[in-house]
Amino acid sequence: MTITPPLTSPGVVGAPTGGPSLPQERRLVTPIPGPESRKRSERKAQAVAAGVGATIPVFAVAAGGGVLVDVDGNSLIDFGSGIAVTGVGNSAPRVVEAVTAQVAAFTHTCFTVAPYDSYVDVAEALNRLTPGDFAKRSALFNSGAEAVENAVKIARHYTGKQAVVAFDHAYHGRTNLTMGLTAKNQPYKNGFGPFAPEIYRAPLSYPLRDGGLTGAEAAKRAISMIEKQIGAANLAAVIIEPIQGEGGFIVPADGFLPALQEWANANGVVFIADEVQTGFARTGTMFASEQFGITPDLIVTAKGIAGGLPLSAVTGRAEIMDAPQVGGLGGTYGGNPLACVAALAAIETYEQDGLVERAREIGTILFEKLGALRDADPRVAEVRGRGAMVAIELMDPETGEPDAALTGKVAAAAHAAGVVLLTCGTYGNVIRFLPPLSIPDHLLIEGLDVVAEAVANA
Ligand SMILES: *Cc1c(COP(=O)(O)O)cnc(C)c1O
Repeated sequence: MTITPPLTSPGVVGAPTGGPSLPQERRLVTPIPGPESRKRSERKAQAVAAGVGATIPVFAVAAGGGVLVDVDGNSLIDFGSGIAVTGVGNSAPRVVEAVTAQVAAFTHTCFTVAPYDSYVDVAEALNRLTPGDFAKRSALFNSGAEAVENAVKIARHYTGKQAVVAFDHAYHGRTNLTMGLTAKNQPYKNGFGPFAPEIYRAPLSYPLRDGGLTGAEAAKRAISMIEKQIGAANLAAVIIEPIQGEGGFIVPADGFLPALQEWANANGVVFIADEVQTGFARTGTMFASEQFGITPDLIVTAKGIAGGLPLSAVTGRAEIMDAPQVGGLGGTYGGNPLACVAALAAIETYEQDGLVERAREIGTILFEKLGALRDADPRVAEVRGRGAMVAIELMDPETGEPDAALTGKVAAAAHAAGVVLLTCGTYGNVIRFLPPLSIPDHLLIEGLDVVAEAVANA
């Protein structure tokens, strides 16, 4: 039997605590990943299932503001926010304070056994903040996928119908139902079937790649497919991300989403917006739906909701939300009190600290710097997104083919230079920028310069 040296304690003496007080600098003291992270990656491979990957294999010891500090003492610029989660920043002060107080008071009762205020407070906040001037209800869950599943359950119960339409390039999660809704086979679905029945896929509006269809034309195409292949009489819900996340930050042409919603409303079909990635100030409004002129019947939220604690929600029209029987919705941990107080603290931070406006400022800088990159380099086919959710799509300028190899090279070079950078897209050729809204300008600009250099050198 071999004895493994203890690696669970931070490998650096006097490891920094997290939060906004961390030095806001990019600082590389070892190659990325450094020796301590490498050791831990070996240990990870022996302990953690291989299917659980890592975008950048540095082990974190602290994070806050716009940096992530690793076990070797490197300070990296964070352009990922743990996939759009830490909008308020990592270890945001209000979140830390609220969770610390709550953990000492009580950690769990199960809301469906003995309720508590913070769950109801979160529901009220969501009902207030989400688009739509009608009576609403909310239900809380643990993950984005779980909330998506529940939105579908609720829509089916309310309508008495079964079919669900999702779109090309969609990403809705990794549970069985949400794998079925998700478009991309590798790595999300491959080998994991069979998938749930009564899920259908409609064509999206993808301005760069659908031959210049207008929003209205793209909606007509999708609706025609739905009517011919499914029929509104069988369709419970249409679910769509206002801006697709994993699918490539695809912004549909103007008019596409309103036309879809109008059709759904007129045909007894529940219109569900999956705002798991776009929600909570990320796109420069509290919810992206506001910018596209849609008022979803149900809206699914998670990621940015609770400053990093696991929480998700379905919010929507009271008559739809109240349809399922008592006991039909819930779960052991859904709306855990630690996550609920974290959400209240995060929501207060978004509202009190002007983070909706901050997302727009970040967007201005992203578009300026990435726009210059696009103008200088024909391989950058497009800069798109809203607010602090922006991406570049890379292609071969001769053929117009997606360039996943180039994308991989750029991400690897950015990682080596100390920038946490995520890719996405059905064709693996999109680089996405999702900085925490707490990132200072100088880090944002420095990180974008690193990426520009990585593109130039690739
Ligand atoms: C991440 C994501 C999900 C799944 O959320 P999990 O918390 O990972 O289950 C669903 N929909 C969208 C749009 C997402 O970005």
